[in-house]
Amino acid sequence: MSKNTPAIILSRPQMGENIGAAARAMANFGLSDLRLVDPRDGWPNKRVVDMASGAFDHIPAPQIFDSLEDAIADLQCVYATTARPRDMIIPVLTPAAAAQDAQKRFIEGENSGFVFGAERTGLTNDETALCTAIIQIPTNPDFSSLNLAQAVLLVAHHIFDAQDDTADYVLQHGNSAPATRENFENFFGRLEDELENGGFFSAKDLKPTMVRNIRNMFSRADLSEQEVNTLQGIVSALIGKKKRAKKAG
Ligand code: SAH
Repeated sequence: MSKNTPAIILSRPQMGENIGAAARAMANFGLSDLRLVDPRDGWPNKRVVDMASGAFDHIPAPQIFDSLEDAIADLQCVYATTARPRDMIIPVLTPAAAAQDAQKRFIEGENSGFVFGAERTGLTNDETALCTAIIQIPTNPDFSSLNLAQAVLLVAHHIFDAQDDTADYVLQHGNSAPATRENFENFFGRLEDELENGGFFSAKDLKPTMVRNIRNMFSRADLSEQEVNTLQGIVSALIGKKKRAKKAG
C-alpha cells in the first residue's frame, strides 16, 4: 500500500530559516507535500534552501498560496496545530492521536493536512476555524510554545511513527546468530551434569526447582551461538581447573 504523506501547511511563516528546517524535518520523516501561505520573505529564498540542508533534493519545492482556504481546498481533513486552547467546539487531539486518525482516514481514501501558524502570532481563530480538528502538543503549561520548525518535526515524527513497524526492542547479535534451542540444551545439559558432579545439588528435593531457576537465568540472557560456545568453554575450563587442583593436591 502507498504511504500516507499528508500536506504540511505553514500559514504566513516569517523566517525563511524555519521553513528550511521544517522542510528538512519533512524529508527526514518521509513527507513531501509542503505548502506555504503568503510567506513573509517570499519564495524562492536562499535562507530556506540553506537551512534545508539538501532536503529539497528529496522533496519538491513548496506550493505557494495566497490564502489558507486555497491551500487546504483539496483536503478532506485538516488539523490546526496550536499551543493555546481556543474558545470553540472542536476536537482537540495529541499529535499521536491525530497521526493515527490521519492514517485511518488515509486508508479510507481521505487526504489530510497539518496547519502551522506564524512564529509571532500563531494561527488566528479564523484560520483555526477552517480546520476540522486541533492538535495541541502537550508541553510545560508555563512555556508551551514550540519553535515552528520543531513543532513540524514533532508532528512529522508522529505521522511517520503511525506507519512505521520498527520493533520497539531488538537485540543485535552482530555476526553470531541467536542460539538454537538444541545449541542451548547441549550447553545446559552439560552444565547441569557438571553441577551434579561438583556436588552443587546437595538437597536432592530442591534440584528440579534449582535447575528450572538456573535455566531461566540463562534463557533470559537471549544468548547467541557464540555466547553459548563461550559458556561451554567456561564449563570446560572450570572442570579442567578442578582436575588440575585435584592433581596438585
Ligand atoms: N506565539 C504563538 C505560537 C507560535 S509558535 C501562539 O501563542 O500561538 C508557531 C507554531 O508552532 C504555532 O502556530 C503552532 O502551529 C506550532 N506550535 C508551537 N507550539 C505548539 C504546541 N505546544 N502545540 C501545538 N502546536 C504548536
